[in-house]
Amino acid sequence: MQFIDTHCHLDGEEFRDDLEAVVTRAREAGVAAIGVPGINLDSCQTVLELCRRYPGYCYPMLGLHPEDVKADWKEVLERIKKSLTSHFLDKPSGKAERSPLTSNTIAIGEVGLDYYWSREFEKEQLEAFEEQVRWAVELQLPLMIHCRKAQNEMVAIIKKYQHDLTGGVFHCFTGNEHEAEELLQFDKFVLGVGGVSTFKKSHLPEVLPAVVPLERIVLETDAPYMAPVPRRGERNEPAFVALVLKRLAEAYGVSEEEVAQKTNENVARVLGIII
Ligand SMILES: [Zn+2]
Repeated sequence: MQFIDTHCHLDGEEFRDDLEAVVTRAREAGVAAIGVPGINLDSCQTVLELCRRYPGYCYPMLGLHPEDVKADWKEVLERIKKSLTSHFLDKPSGKAERSPLTSNTIAIGEVGLDYYWSREFEKEQLEAFEEQVRWAVELQLPLMIHCRKAQNEMVAIIKKYQHDLTGGVFHCFTGNEHEAEELLQFDKFVLGVGGVSTFKKSHLPEVLPAVVPLERIVLETDAPYMAPVPRRGERNEPAFVALVLKRLAEAYGVSEEEVAQKTNENVARVLGIII
């Protein structure tokens, strides 16, 4: 049985000392591919470097995370856009087309809105997010979206572009039934479900089967954060996505193989990773 961790900060310094062992454990646990999101200028570079070390296994996503949006966001976005478009070849038609050699950037992310920690750069966050949503339209890449305490604002922006977007992931979904339904109205999007679903007090094991078909879920760890039970509190790592899969199989009353197969199909459809 194989499955995919769609969101893992494998380039983080938490993995610097034992990256090779972490990747080996992931492979042994059945993780067939890992999506690695960038969060700022530096991390977009480290993500690309890391993914070059593991071709066909680690897949980069590039973007500016809402918590990293500061006064200099315009300049930062310009530079991230350069790394992004250097992965595309210009065709004589003037339309960007993915290069067969370097077309491994699978999504714009992680991008979004986060009003939980600070609203200091609220306006900048909105502008930076919308700009990156426009990139997703222009480059026809899916979005990896981070959203905390800002669902209304995020949904309003996605609505403006929904017909031109290829789709994406609402990463780290932890909401209620109403919030899930609101996100599922975007039919090319899926919910990213991670370690929170395994927490004792989590309502996700009831919310998800009630309103979210398995066809709309992808698995993630968000490692090194959010380690699932029984590893809660430890450094998370991609191998632990198996624990999320197990919890979802219990919640939906289906086999682990079925969760793996459905979520793999969803990843192939939305993020284009085919294992
Ligand atoms: Zn993340």
